[in-house]
Amino acid sequence: MITSLSSLMRRWSPPAGYRWRRQSTISFVAFHALVPLALTPWFFSWTGVALAFVGFYLFNTVGIDVCFHRLLSHRSFKSPLWLERTLALLGVCGLQDSPTQWAATHRRHHRHTDEEQDPHSPLESVFWGHIGWLIVKEKDPHRSVLQQKYVADMLRDPFYRHIEKNTLWLWIFLGHAILFFGAGFLVGLTNDGTLAAGARVGTSMFLWGVIVRVVYSWHATWAVNSVAHLWGYRNYDTSDNSRNNWFLSLVTWGAGWHNNHHGDQRSAAHGHHRWWEFDGAYLTILALQCVGLAWDVTPRRRLHLLIDQPSAADPEVAADPTVVPFRQPDQSTTEVPAQRDRAA
Ligand SMILES: [Zn+2]
Ligand SMILES: [Zn+2]
Repeated sequence: MITSLSSLMRRWSPPAGYRWRRQSTISFVAFHALVPLALTPWFFSWTGVALAFVGFYLFNTVGIDVCFHRLLSHRSFKSPLWLERTLALLGVCGLQDSPTQWAATHRRHHRHTDEEQDPHSPLESVFWGHIGWLIVKEKDPHRSVLQQKYVADMLRDPFYRHIEKNTLWLWIFLGHAILFFGAGFLVGLTNDGTLAAGARVGTSMFLWGVIVRVVYSWHATWAVNSVAHLWGYRNYDTSDNSRNNWFLSLVTWGAGWHNNHHGDQRSAAHGHHRWWEFDGAYLTILALQCVGLAWDVTPRRRLHLLIDQPSAADPEVAADPTVVPFRQPDQSTTEVPAQRDRAA
């Protein structure tokens, strides 16, 4: 299948100025093709379904949203170095590239949101914003150039340099996938005492714990780039097209409150700007704070929601220096501390 897909890609060239990202495209097709297999009677189990949901929370909400996004990309809170690195390894198991490349791409998105240099604006097309930017390559700067420009702070840490080097992040992902199969194999072997049962349960755990969960988390993350820049309501009058999408927030545990995030990028709380905006990732950060594993959690700034936007002549607003007006000149950029300040 991989050989025929490669020859198909060679015959069908993308538009001038673009070229295929072969490995990504082949991975996406292979993972999606395996999903129906998980639904067959041989491999379906409710334990597997539960494993996919728990895995989504652990690897996507905690690994990607809490760590890659709010901790590494935006420095919305601080945590012990051992915890930061552990969470980063969980994020790597989400198969969304290395921590440095993820953060560099994301900071570039904030710097150029919905402009020409935005890596994944859906204003180009919904398909482009969702997945197109991942399967064809524009004349982008090389990943090392991109990372030097946007995540120089992360590259000072040998841990992240090492994960990036020789695509170690990919090997970590493969290792965790083998663990899923191995754990299932042992369960099947122990329960039924046959190699066939071990292979069946191992494959089932691999399909639900890795393949289905990764495909779900891919589309959840990609939908933040596409859906949450097209459909939903706005609390803040940002200069981009970001939206708060309640359905996406529900299925991503809080990543869909995207207009709130663009309106207040350093805040650890993407939801909870209005009472109904449930944000499971933020509650996870608060739980870590309660047990002393997170501190300096950046609170919501006193931005004015569109619904209660004050008059420019409001004397209370004019006198309060902590009130941040809309469209600050630097609001399109992600502030990154020059020096990382954290505990070992
Ligand atoms: Zn962000
Ligand atoms: Zn965005």
